[in-house]
Amino acid sequence: MLSIKRLTKAYGAHTVLDEIDLEIATKDVVAVIGPSGSGKSTLLKCINFLEPYQQGEVRFEGQCVGYREAAGKRREASDRVINRQRARIGMVFQNFNLFGHMSVLDNLIEGPTQVLHEPRASAIERAERLLDKVGLLDKRDQRPSRLSGGQQQRVAIARALAMRPSLMLFDEPTSALDPELVGEVLATMRQLAEEGMTMLIVTHEMEFAREVATRVVFMEDGRIVEENAPERLFVSPENPRTRAFLARVL
Ligand code: ADP
Ligand code: MG
Repeated sequence: MLSIKRLTKAYGAHTVLDEIDLEIATKDVVAVIGPSGSGKSTLLKCINFLEPYQQGEVRFEGQCVGYREAAGKRREASDRVINRQRARIGMVFQNFNLFGHMSVLDNLIEGPTQVLHEPRASAIERAERLLDKVGLLDKRDQRPSRLSGGQQQRVAIARALAMRPSLMLFDEPTSALDPELVGEVLATMRQLAEEGMTMLIVTHEMEFAREVATRVVFMEDGRIVEENAPERLFVSPENPRTRAFLARVL
């Protein structure tokens, strides 16, 4: 579904992603771990082209993300193409990023009606089903600011799902939450994984990564240092740098 080859991204002279290779198949749940500044967020942003990249390629569902080849030269794709690609990829951020001036329900139907041009009635029906699934149907008419952080993040997940994405990206979805609210968000993500959603999750929740991920990727200094099944990577990491990182965080 997603194929990243030699992806290289720099801010000025500072290389932030250095020849990243990563393959994600349907129903994979891949956890990305690594120290702050290692390029995890930038990797997610390149995947849905919130950030341009200089070299290499991100292919999603067979199509190059963000660029097209024209006469042997690489050009940015049109906004229409980029928006269509982006709509297939759900993104959940650390700070929820809900529309504060809209009700919970309106947050969920905005994308489907405005971007996918779905009829309002069917968008509402689907939004209600998704809110029910994340346990928040009773909050449909509330403003997000009236909800707890954990509830807001579950709304953000439901909002992303409302676009019927085939891939979900999560960037430290529980890092901004009070400790007692982390569990409810992880439970929602776990349920999604069990239902077969393809997911790429940047997280500091090592226990969650170990239990839910099908693969774990350890990044440092813009590179993938080690990639393995969770039981291998957490129990007997091959790379000394992975070992040193795990010794610090576990
Ligand atoms: P992580 O998510 O692993 O903490 P990031 O992807 O946010 O790492 O950042 C990787 C590196 O890129 C860091 O050194 C960071 O300072 C730098 N960086 C991130 N965003 C920008 C930006 N917009 N401009 C310049 N440098 C950036
Ligand atoms: Mg980050």
